[in-house]
Amino acid sequence: MVPTKANLTVPYFDLTAQYRDLRDEIRDAIDRVCSKAAFILGEEVERFEQAFAKYCGVKHCVGLNSGTSALHLAMLAAGIGPGDEVITTANTFIATVEAIIYTGATPVFADIDPATANIDPEKIEQAITKRTRAVIPVHLYGRPANVEAITRMASDHRFLIIEDACQAHGASFQGKRVGGFGHSAAFSFYPGKNLGAYGEGGALTTNDDEVAKLARALRSHGETVRYIHKYVGYNYRMDGFQAAVLNVKLKHLDEWTSKRQAFSSLYGELLADARVDLPQDSPEAECVYHLFVAYVEDRDRVRAALQERGVQTAVHYPKPVHLQEGLEHLGYKEGSLPNTERACQRVMSMPLFPEMTVEQVRHAASSLREIVGTPS
Ligand SMILES: *Cc1c(COP(=O)(O)O)cnc(C)c1O
Repeated sequence: MVPTKANLTVPYFDLTAQYRDLRDEIRDAIDRVCSKAAFILGEEVERFEQAFAKYCGVKHCVGLNSGTSALHLAMLAAGIGPGDEVITTANTFIATVEAIIYTGATPVFADIDPATANIDPEKIEQAITKRTRAVIPVHLYGRPANVEAITRMASDHRFLIIEDACQAHGASFQGKRVGGFGHSAAFSFYPGKNLGAYGEGGALTTNDDEVAKLARALRSHGETVRYIHKYVGYNYRMDGFQAAVLNVKLKHLDEWTSKRQAFSSLYGELLADARVDLPQDSPEAECVYHLFVAYVEDRDRVRAALQERGVQTAVHYPKPVHLQEGLEHLGYKEGSLPNTERACQRVMSMPLFPEMTVEQVRHAASSLREIVGTPS
């Protein structure tokens, strides 16, 4: 049946179409891993590490089993531990903050710039103390944080920058890709990310030889030579299947990113006169649109009305990290981060994935425009 506008449904996200396109290549790649029984690390992982380092324009990539592990090892490789403070945003997935807590350090939240939803450099400045050891800017929704302003502060105040690039594969700032702006960076290959594995996956990138060496040891029980353990480490290794899938998919990433950018720009045009706020793109930053978010009043009602028109949406994130029950002990209260809290009340993610059609984008955008109206 050919979908008509009346019955056109727009899923929020769909990975099955991508598999249909890549099926033969992926099956071959998985078969290669099985034939060699190279299930943990191995050739496919090494090949992926080299290709992804090149893609990001950095010297090293260390393949891991998740973005959360990458953030944790980034913290440890920076020497962060009890008594240290790490400044980050509460407008993120909780993993950013968990990684700080794993080391015994204290997370300190700086509010966001409402125009970009990313950490506000001025608020970082206000949060710096003698204990500040690092800042984690999150390139939220694929939109690079203002790394220029943060880098300037980092040299004045002697803190390290660790990028949370888990949503920003290939995004760039002043023409340079994220992943190499700080001491190290964390990427996630969770299936729904712009570059997704077929299970859990992540990577740490860095230009620092020592950081890479330490991360390689820590991902494999602190081992430097087989069964010689220089440190107490972790089991954070990337597996062969994930690397094999990622090797196939990395070749397509730029083409998928272009689709995301084109659909986002179409959403932007179609919503230009609608009663919604959209995050602003700086001319210095190239956003890879992990998500296309819109801020609306009465968000839950708007989502329900979209659902009635066949348009699925999601919310990233409904509750900011500083107000999560698990982090109550940090002592933040409602009202501590007003811009973050307001963003979480109004934010909504529209359907966006490279395999969707222009017709679906048009239907989703025009439905939203009808529901929220246009200021007269
Ligand atoms: C996905 C994500 C993570 C965690 O990555 P996992 O691979 O799921 O562990 C961390 N930070 C941000 C901003 C993310 O979106």
